[in-house]
Order: sequence, then structure tokens, then C-alpha cells
Amino acid sequence: MQKKVVVTGAGGFIGHHLVKYLVKRGYTVRGVDIKLPEYEPTAAHEFELLDLRRWSNCLQATRGVSEVYALAAEMGGIGFIETHKAEIVRDSSLINLHTIEAARLNGVQRLLFTSSACIYPGYLQKDADVKPLREEDAYPADAEDGYGWEKLYMERTCRHYREDFGLETRVVRFHNIFGPLGTYDGGREKSPAAICRKIALAEDGGTIEVWGDGQQTRSYCYIDDCVEGIYRLMRSDYPHPLNLGQDRLISINELVHLVAAIAGKKIYLQHDLTKPQGVRGRNSDNSRLREVLQWEPSVSLETGLARTYEFIVGELEKTGRLPITTMAAA
Ligand code: NAD
Repeated sequence: MQKKVVVTGAGGFIGHHLVKYLVKRGYTVRGVDIKLPEYEPTAAHEFELLDLRRWSNCLQATRGVSEVYALAAEMGGIGFIETHKAEIVRDSSLINLHTIEAARLNGVQRLLFTSSACIYPGYLQKDADVKPLREEDAYPADAEDGYGWEKLYMERTCRHYREDFGLETRVVRFHNIFGPLGTYDGGREKSPAAICRKIALAEDGGTIEVWGDGQQTRSYCYIDDCVEGIYRLMRSDYPHPLNLGQDRLISINELVHLVAAIAGKKIYLQHDLTKPQGVRGRNSDNSRLREVLQWEPSVSLETGLARTYEFIVGELEKTGRLPITTMAAA
């Protein structure tokens, strides 16, 4: 018989995709979140609307399951995390500490914590042509203020719970996950979704605003690869933090051009240097990922962006912000 597991943050982008993935694999899945998934119904066998900042709710969320995928967090793109540090640190610390302790008391066997590339030190990310970040580069620590420090602290908490209490913990460091069913508007969206939305709404030959000079670089990982990697890590015996991302470095300007090509539009860029742009460059070193999981993400950026663009156009059409075309009907 397959195990019963809980996914926290199951109303969010990655959590919702992970629930679908685990259900397909035959798991009995409980989803927990403070909200339901936005764009389609959950696939979870049961879904509990709970505020996981509260201790009693974490006890309820983790009761009767053998594994916890801990994804719930205050989360957003650079525009959000640079301006909501206290909220992020307060809420995510409460969620995560209560979740791991409740999991322990409920006799959960394994807990996977979702960390971030934002734990990597700022001093290693000052060049657009950045050296890919290896797991051990995390120290000496100089994480992203607020969001990154909370993640780093929880990575260590996972290690302490494993060493002192015998709770099997897994820690994954995501590098910019993107894809359909992710937030694309409202302030929490990340760069691929924001760029897709702006280009979808722009005329052919129009101009979109780009944050910073657009020469800052990142790598992006498609959601299907992300959930596959999460699952493989959970099943592995590797207890240390592991990167999960692609290692193809691309500038924001290049990303805009890729999306414009998918949209079939000529797009001009207007750079706003007053807007936050985060670190200058960030890339994932996937050596350990390959070694540990015998696998690495494979969906190309072009394929992932095309699917994401199509999803966002469809949503803009459903909400009346774009006239209906055949794309959404397809
Ligand atoms: P998301 O915002 O879509 O999902 C997070 C979910 O947590 C949301 O549905 C939110 O409602 C829920 N949540 C927030 N506060 C809660 C509370 N008090 N109680 C219950 N649920 C609550 O973000 P995501 O992109 O799906 O990220 C999932 C996890 O992966 C997060 O921990 C995030 O920090 C981490 N992560 C994501 C990325 C990325 O590129 N998307 C990168 C690095 C790390």
C-alpha cells in the first residue's frame, strides 16, 4: 500500500504541481494551505485550509502521515522579498519551526524542506558572469537579507532535528522555478512570469519595462523537472542541502528576447534602474545533483517559456485583459 503524505503550501505554485505528481505516483496526499490553488482544483485526496503559523494547525496537518513535503512559506519575487522582510521572517519561521516539531511529535519519518538559492552569499554573486554556486559555497554565510537567512536557519534546523532527534530530513535549494499555474501578477510574481505577462499585454512593436539594466543573470528551472527532482531527493538517502535548478545562465534582457520570439512580437525594452534587481548574477552548479540523483533537469528554457506564455495568455483572456484568441482555445 502506498504511503500517506502531506504537502504544505499545496495551494501554491510548486505545491500544487507536486500534489498532482504524487497522486499520479499512487500516494495518498493531504494538501494543506491557507488558500486553495488559484487556477485549477487540487488533485489532493484531502485538502485542509489551515494557517500553519499556528502550532495546533501544524499538529493537525502532520497527523497520520509518514512524510512531509514542507513548501508553505511567505514567498515572492525580488519586488516582494526586498520589501516584506519582517513578514517573511516572522511567518515562515513560525510555519517551519512548528511544522518540523509537529512532524517529530507525530512520528513522521521524513521531512523535505524547500530552501532557496537565496541562501548563497552576496559576495559570490557580484558579477553577471558568475561562477556557478556549489552547495559548500553557502558558508561563510551572507544570505539574502530576510528571506535567505530564514531559509539558511531552517536548513540548519533540519540538520539538528536529523542528528539529535533522528527525523530524516531532506533539503532542496531551488534556483528560479517557473511554469504554468504560477503567480503572474499582483507583486509576488517572478521574472519569467512577469516578462510573459508584460509581453502578452504589449502591442507588436511595443515597449516593456525591465527592472535594472537587464544584464543581471539567472538560471531557470521548469516546474516538471522541479517536482521530479523533489521526489528523487526525498527517495534518496542524501541528507545535506542540494541544488535543484538548471545551469544555463541567461540575462534578463535575453530572457525578454526569448519570450518576445515565442510571442512573435517585436518588443523594445525600457530599463528602470530604480527597481530592485537582486544579486548581479546567480547560477547553479549541478555537479552534486548529478552525482547524488543520477539525474538533472532537462526541459529547455524555450519549451518551458512557451508553455508558461501560453498559460498566462489564457489567464489574461479568461479575465478579460486580452481579447480571446485561438491560443487559449487550443
Ligand atoms: P507559492 O507562494 O506559490 O507557495 C507557497 C504557499 O505557501 C502559498 O500557497 C501560500 O498560501 C502558502 N502559505 C503561506 N503562508 C501560509 C500559512 N501561514 N499557512 C499555510 N500556508 C501558507 O510559492 P512556490 O513558488 O510554490 O514556493 C514553494 C516553496 O519553494 C516555498 O518554500 C519557497 O520559498 C520555495 N522556493 C521557491 C522558489 C521558486 O522559484 N518558486 C525558489 C526558491 C525557493
